[in-house]
Amino acid sequence: MKLLDGKICAESLVADVAVKVNGYIASGLRKPHMTVILVGDHAPSESYVKSKIVSCRKAGFDSALLRFPETVSESELLAAITAINADPSTDGLIVQLPVPQHINPQNIINAIAPEKDIDGFHPTNFGRMTLGQKAFRPATAYGICKLLQFYEITVKGKHCVVIGRSNIVGKPISIMLSNDFDIGNATVTLTHIETPRELLLDETRRADIIVVAVGIPGFVTEDMVKEGVVMIDVGINRLENGSLVGDVDFTRVSSKCSWITPVPGGVGRMTVAALMINTLMAYQNNFDLT
Ligand code: NAD
Repeated sequence: MKLLDGKICAESLVADVAVKVNGYIASGLRKPHMTVILVGDHAPSESYVKSKIVSCRKAGFDSALLRFPETVSESELLAAITAINADPSTDGLIVQLPVPQHINPQNIINAIAPEKDIDGFHPTNFGRMTLGQKAFRPATAYGICKLLQFYEITVKGKHCVVIGRSNIVGKPISIMLSNDFDIGNATVTLTHIETPRELLLDETRRADIIVVAVGIPGFVTEDMVKEGVVMIDVGINRLENGSLVGDVDFTRVSSKCSWITPVPGGVGRMTVAALMINTLMAYQNNFDLT
């Protein structure tokens, strides 16, 4: 079993971004700029936002964090997004999800200008990505592809099983791995909560690559996988004792895997790295750079 180390891969990708940024600054351009909107005081969101800001610094970007109280109205938030959309000094905008229950997340996502939507959640980017056109690819799914590429894992022609169909992970990774992309051309089965258990097991037991994003600790057990599987564990679950675990029973499953992502230190790091790549792309688009 070998680890797909998201920390090593992310550091390498962010260092590549920083080299490009240094070149642009040396030629007289301003730094790329990412703005993050954070609503309320959801502890995991605080930690995700912090790692994004730290990563911006490593990539050579400027960043701004706009905080709103839990009680902010949807219209106030939409007004802030409209202002950032119109501000030429911001290249990329993220609204950290989840937002409070009285705010419709889809209205928020739809309000972000597609050219600043570095999370890749706006229908324009999601649609373009699905059609195989140039787009900001949803960051977690893009990060997974970058990790597979970094470790030279063959995806083309493989049988991939995705567990979970969320708009932010399961659905986009199933599309990206099956598309005719540089990291794609796999045969993909997308499973979800309504997939009968026997069908799920049939699929996972013959999968070459499994991507699991369900949010249930220990969901993937050793009897569900074949020897040599590549396991991508997207889950981030905090246990009562405070430790972070994924959706895979790592201790027992890892010995059957050819490659596996750790949690923490796997996909989470790659999500942030993919955001840096997307922000650089937004900046390059802004300045007509290639
Ligand atoms: P979600 O919580 O929106 O949805 C869970 C998905 O799991 C649903 O599509 C559901 O159909 C599926 N599911 C639930 N029970 C199932 C079952 N018994 N069999 C098959 N499918 C089942 O999903 P999400 O937002 O993608 O989050 C999933 C996990 O990934 C969470 O732990 C979350 O914290 C984590 N996450 C991590 C990152 C990262 O950067 N590493 C990014 C996003 C989400």
